[in-house]
Amino acid sequence: MKRIQLLDYYSGLFGAAGPEGRKGRILARIAGSDGQTRKRLAEDMCIRPATVSKLVLELIQVGLVREGRPEVAGQKGRPEIALAANPQGLVSIVCNTVSRGLHCALVDMAGKVLVADQCELDADTIGHEAFVAALLDLVRAAEGHVPLDSRLAGVVLSLPGIVDEDNRVWRYAAHWPNLTELDFAGMEARLGMPFLLAKNLKCELRARMSESDARAHDATLLLHWGYGIGAAFARRGALDLQYGSFGEVGHFCVDPRSTARCKCGMTGCIEAEAGLWALLDRLGDPSLPSDEWGFADVLAARPDVADWSMSIEYIALCLRNLVLTLKPDHCVITGPFSQTPQIMRALRARFSEVMPANALVVGGTPDLDVGAPGIGYEVVGASALAFGEALKNICGVQGLGVSKTMSRTDMQADD
Ligand SMILES: [Zn+2]
Repeated sequence: MKRIQLLDYYSGLFGAAGPEGRKGRILARIAGSDGQTRKRLAEDMCIRPATVSKLVLELIQVGLVREGRPEVAGQKGRPEIALAANPQGLVSIVCNTVSRGLHCALVDMAGKVLVADQCELDADTIGHEAFVAALLDLVRAAEGHVPLDSRLAGVVLSLPGIVDEDNRVWRYAAHWPNLTELDFAGMEARLGMPFLLAKNLKCELRARMSESDARAHDATLLLHWGYGIGAAFARRGALDLQYGSFGEVGHFCVDPRSTARCKCGMTGCIEAEAGLWALLDRLGDPSLPSDEWGFADVLAARPDVADWSMSIEYIALCLRNLVLTLKPDHCVITGPFSQTPQIMRALRARFSEVMPANALVVGGTPDLDVGAPGIGYEVVGASALAFGEALKNICGVQGLGVSKTMSRTDMQADD
């Protein structure tokens, strides 16, 4: 059985103590280790056995927990039944843009994609109504695939550009010029289920920072170098991840003398120099795919399809400025270019020149790591928003904010 992803994120929703988040904390413990039993939960969490039994029964009834075989047979007294989380008890639908397409995935809490679909859209011309219609078609088709014993948590739309998550408005994206100020306020009523908007790179970073190899790092900068160029940043705080919000990195000026016009209307932007869309415009070869991961395949076979020296120069400069501003201890470069070893070797070499570790202002140069390819992390990080809201409802923790992540060894009085 696959484990629930982003368990620490959900644990943070349940609070550290008190009756309100108790059901959620029980779920987190069951999901976090094998062989949990009602007796062990009661002992470890200092909760009355009858209360544990009642809350576990409720979790079983909503499909989030399953009972296994009795742990010990043949001993005196009632055998203890092992409990396990059921990641497919909750599923959500994640839609996201990839280059100029709209993708849709039905995903469970283990991050397993049950069904995936996509449609190509004319990003340059598509307007509000047509985009929403395409989104509704994909969501309704995915909804038809929800397993009978799963509960649908809702839909998360993960988007590039400037995304107002709280008000559910897509403010701006350079590659979708007619979708400025697209307001999704009515979507929940139209779909009859929760609908959330999310910034794509923030979702990706949320999922990547929960991976075990990322736990050693306190502050991570994620730079996506792909069709467009963007970045996300988060620092581990006492109260969960704290995200930085810093506008549109893709439109950093890296060459004020450039005449290459960017999709945003300005010149000199890093995207217009090093973004995949600008590169494809320059190469003028219609056989090259504009889809980022299709282009990664081309790069794998033909790493010299273009001269990368100036793109690497600009990305190294962009990284230097971001590192000086944000002080990450770890940088992850994602997107198709980072999958090419020659490009990453050259980027690391240039970055160490423009950001030398012995410069007084630096105080250590962060490593540049390659992020795993694909959109899997974005989908997992986006789905967590819908799962988090559903879990808060199921576990009755509406009043709790994000709070300190539960320690699995914490022996606190809870009842
Ligand atoms: Zn621009």
